[in-house]
Amino acid sequence: MNPASYDVVDGVRTYKLFIDGQWVNSARNITADSINPADGSLFARTQQAGAPEVTRAIEAAHAAFASWGSSLASTREKMLLKVAEVIDRRTPEIRDILIDECGSVFNKALWEIDYVTDCLRSAAGDVRHVMGETMPVTQPGQISMSVRRPLGVVAGIAPFNSPFLLSMKKIAFALAAGNTFVLKPSEETPISAALIADLFEEAGLPTGVLNVVPGVPAEVGDILIADPRVKLVTFTGSTRTGRHLAVEAAKHLKKFCLEMGGKSPLIVLKDADLDYAVNAAAFGVFLHQGQVCMANSKVIVEAPIFDAFAERFVAKAKGVTVGHPRDTTSVVGPLIRESQCAFIDSQLADAREKGAEVLTGGTHEGRYFQPTVLSGVTSDMRIYHEESFGPVVSLIRVEDAEAALEVANDTAYGLSAAVITNDLQKALNISLRLESGMVHVNDCTISDEPHVPFGGVKNSGFGREGGRSSWEELTEQKWITIQMGQREFPF
Ligand code: NAD
Repeated sequence: MNPASYDVVDGVRTYKLFIDGQWVNSARNITADSINPADGSLFARTQQAGAPEVTRAIEAAHAAFASWGSSLASTREKMLLKVAEVIDRRTPEIRDILIDECGSVFNKALWEIDYVTDCLRSAAGDVRHVMGETMPVTQPGQISMSVRRPLGVVAGIAPFNSPFLLSMKKIAFALAAGNTFVLKPSEETPISAALIADLFEEAGLPTGVLNVVPGVPAEVGDILIADPRVKLVTFTGSTRTGRHLAVEAAKHLKKFCLEMGGKSPLIVLKDADLDYAVNAAAFGVFLHQGQVCMANSKVIVEAPIFDAFAERFVAKAKGVTVGHPRDTTSVVGPLIRESQCAFIDSQLADAREKGAEVLTGGTHEGRYFQPTVLSGVTSDMRIYHEESFGPVVSLIRVEDAEAALEVANDTAYGLSAAVITNDLQKALNISLRLESGMVHVNDCTISDEPHVPFGGVKNSGFGREGGRSSWEELTEQKWITIQMGQREFPF
């Protein structure tokens, strides 16, 4: 990374804030430690923005909007493509940061980087397609049209689990539409955010268009939400945090986009290819050690195949390699923090107490949680309802497809869902009735593309991210009429 982006203090890098194109320390000079989840070692430190720095970041973004907001489509397109090129060249360095900071296993880190370059290129391709419309008129001589305008300053609040992808997705589409940006990264992953600023800086982004202010979440968040120059806050994270922030945003009548948690069901019908279904279900819950919002943590299986499915799935889970994320053979790496292991321990204790059986796993060494499979999970157990955000899955036996649908919809969340069957008519019928923002037939629940309307319903949020749907969130429509010649007024 640019040596200006950090100081080395006692042999440890202390990353700075990125405001108005400058790498700066906070006036109060407070830092936070970043701990490598793989071994608990001190990985880096980060300056913590206080009120003066967050306000300066908003000011810088607001000032930069004057030119970025009216820049040529080709200028924004070139910039996004340039950042993708820089990322292609710096992939090994980015991969290592994602591994050390977030505990991403090797291949997940590479997948995340690949998604980001795809996303930047997809956003660049969309720049020329942010279209307005012309409208029919009822008044003689009038031309009536709507134009799409960027909002101004957009603030992004991002989670820890795929920090590069989830921040970049917000930034790429916001900048493509002509907005400027202030990013508040997760306190667990501020270095990925400094890296994003560094990549845009190398690509030559004009100063102030992107600003990165890690800090104490509530302190930074409150300022971003309250400042009238911030026109949209786009949040990805837990439902608990999102709910709190949405209430705060409402007090300021701030436009707000929410991408939140999930308890995603995967339905396996009795005609499914068992091995295929087992592989899909395993990928959908063990990827990134289950720390994925779309993870299929509830697998609902029709009774005639339940026992055979459970036997093969347990064998599959036992064969999943748990290990250091730098080891290219590891599939499941460490959870982000020890308290997450304790949280899952308490969910498992509750489930066991109420009669669930742990078919495999259920233990952890440090932050390395074994792939865990439960059966006999019922709706009075916490794990039936709560997100685990770990490699833990409940297998639920149901009598038929209708019962499967009922269990699948029996959740406060509604992010992603999947159904595996060769009966496509039944699959479509179920897809339409699943209370979920996204449904995948003959796949697991984890799927994302930069150009699709990604997002949830119920407590998983509102608003969509990606492609054309992003423009709905990131631009405002302005209605303009032109009267050709003089109209007649009634008085
Ligand atoms: P989190 O809610 O703890 O934190 C998310 C972000 O909110 C972080 O940047 C955090 O610092 C910030 N934050 C927390 N309190 C705040 C406050 N008072 N003011 C301002 N900001 C505040 O979530 P997490 O643990 O980082 O991420 C995991 C959660 O995110 C899971 O629930 C997961 O399902 C969800 N998630 C959803 C999606 C999606 O697209 N729907 C994607 C990834 C993760």
